Amino acid sequence: MNKLSFDAIVVGSGMSGGWAAKELTEKGLKTLMIESGKNLEHPIDYPTTNLLPWEFEHRGQVPYHIAKQYPSIKRHFLLTESTIPFIKKDEEQEYIQEKSFDWIRGDQVGGRSLLWGRHTQRWSDHDFEGPLRDGFAVDWPIRYHDIAPWYSHVEKFIGVSGNRDGLDAVPDGEFLPPFEMTCIEKHFKASVDIHYPDRHLIIARTANITRPNEIHLQQGRGKCQNRDMCSRGCPFGGYFSSNSSTIPWAKKTGNLTLLTDTIVHSIVYDEEKGKATGVRVINKHTKVTDIYNAKIIFVNASALNTNLILLNSVSKRFPNGLGNDNGLLGRYMAFHNYRGLVKAEYEGLKEFNTDGRRPTTSYMPRFRNLYEQQTNFLRGYSVEIGSSRATYPAGDDFGETLKDNLLNTTPGNWLIYAKMMGETIPKEESRVTLDPFKKDKYGLPQLRISVTFDGNDEKLLQDFFKEFSEMFGKAGYIAIQKIDTKRQPGNENHEMGGVRMGKDPNTSMLNQNNQLHHCKNVFVTDGACMTSTSSQNPSLTYMALTARAADYAVNELKAGKI
Ligand SMILES: Cc1cc2nc3c(=O)[nH]c(=O)nc-3n(C[C@H](O)[C@H](O)[C@H](O)COP(=O)(O)OP(=O)(O)OC[C@H]3O[C@@H](n4cnc5c(N)ncnc54)[C@H](O)[C@@H]3O)c2cc1C
Repeated sequence: MNKLSFDAIVVGSGMSGGWAAKELTEKGLKTLMIESGKNLEHPIDYPTTNLLPWEFEHRGQVPYHIAKQYPSIKRHFLLTESTIPFIKKDEEQEYIQEKSFDWIRGDQVGGRSLLWGRHTQRWSDHDFEGPLRDGFAVDWPIRYHDIAPWYSHVEKFIGVSGNRDGLDAVPDGEFLPPFEMTCIEKHFKASVDIHYPDRHLIIARTANITRPNEIHLQQGRGKCQNRDMCSRGCPFGGYFSSNSSTIPWAKKTGNLTLLTDTIVHSIVYDEEKGKATGVRVINKHTKVTDIYNAKIIFVNASALNTNLILLNSVSKRFPNGLGNDNGLLGRYMAFHNYRGLVKAEYEGLKEFNTDGRRPTTSYMPRFRNLYEQQTNFLRGYSVEIGSSRATYPAGDDFGETLKDNLLNTTPGNWLIYAKMMGETIPKEESRVTLDPFKKDKYGLPQLRISVTFDGNDEKLLQDFFKEFSEMFGKAGYIAIQKIDTKRQPGNENHEMGGVRMGKDPNTSMLNQNNQLHHCKNVFVTDGACMTSTSSQNPSLTYMALTARAADYAVNELKAGKI
């Protein structure tokens, strides 16, 4: 084995890449992880983690001359002075929006695992059987029982807090003690229980450690301090990120080599061997190119960049991209529809003054079309429910007035909001392609993204408005506002598809083990592999699929089959 040859290569060090590295190195494979962004060490490289509001140069706001370097994220709440060190500038990787798309990317070791909201609901057979039952996309090649043990495997390691709620839509897992609902969320839950027997409000299952187990202490991680500043990076390792958990764990095996500031350009396919032999890379600083070799390759560059790398991996055998015999690579992309927001106020519960602090929210699992088709739209939505106590007058003034206002606030009504998280339908025309001419500054083709909402998404939004206005009304809430936030595709950070799993090589790219049908030593286990999107957050499922695929890959490798 020379310095450029490994047993395995993992492309990308984010949520799914971290899991690939952990599993492969633990199973004894000499593994090279290649990350295009900068190095970032837990817990020392979190520059804003302990800053107080007045210690930020611009008091947390991002001034115009900086914000304009991040146009694809300008509509996102992430664009603050505390999180900006972890966000990729557009000029680092330009792309073409055939239809408006906010592409939000990390640019460091850990990827977006540093920035995520940590909601970790399992998917159920209502999701894995969805396409077959409702007649869209293709049938998933797996069912809940295939992935359930891997959900447990991941949950135990990362630490997921939650209740065992016994609900079909979001199966129970290996939970640490839950966070608590606020008083108004409990009040809303009681009302929902009375009026809607088929709807359930629960505390969201969340990847924050409420009581560390031995496995978390071994990772050097401690209890969540309820600082509610997770997206700055947590020095306590209170929430799961690849930086605090999987990557240091993989390093401890002695089997991991981490290469940063290095872009994977494409995968090298050997015609004679009939398999991939390595990856071509570009050093971001020197622009020098190289080839690294390995027996197996896990592509975890996040859904869109994984599509880009495979489309860019052309050879005589695969002139349209690696494994792309059926022409489906880059198609059937989907995302989550986060456009709906319903807000309300409550004049009761005035004896409770504070909403407290916790790193999560309440959650209502999908109730529409769960057991059967009930509506004129396909699928449904989950809902995040959050709340706070308003204070008047608000502290928006300046100088002395601001000081007076802050010193003399009066608690106002309770505020509650419901945020829709809608499933979208993957369609053949929802796709990404490579621009034949335009390249980014490192010489990679620019991605053309053509994904948008459709009539189903509009119907789902209207249904959400109607149902939540009614639910809040029945709970006695006032000042109900229905808001179309107009969040664009991508803005929810859950882009999926393009390299979907399926049973049939004619209609899918990957088999049930996330292996390219036509190039068996290449595995895709990030969002690109998803056949449909469910309405639950997807990252727990990426991690479980990754661990499952890594186990399979190592067994196949040891058996000499790949
Ligand atoms: C604000 C926010 C809130 C979120 N909330 C939730 C939530 O509550 N629940 C949930 O499930 N998900 C949530 N997500 C989404 C979650 O972060 C992503 O689903 C997850 O990080 C995707 O994992 P990944 O491994 O596919 O990609 P990433 O974590 O994005 O990592 C990909 C890595 O690959 C690297 N890379 C890209 N291209 C190349 C290349 N050519 N060569 C080498 N390296 C490359 C990138 O630099 C990056 O480090 C949220 C995301 C954000 C930003």
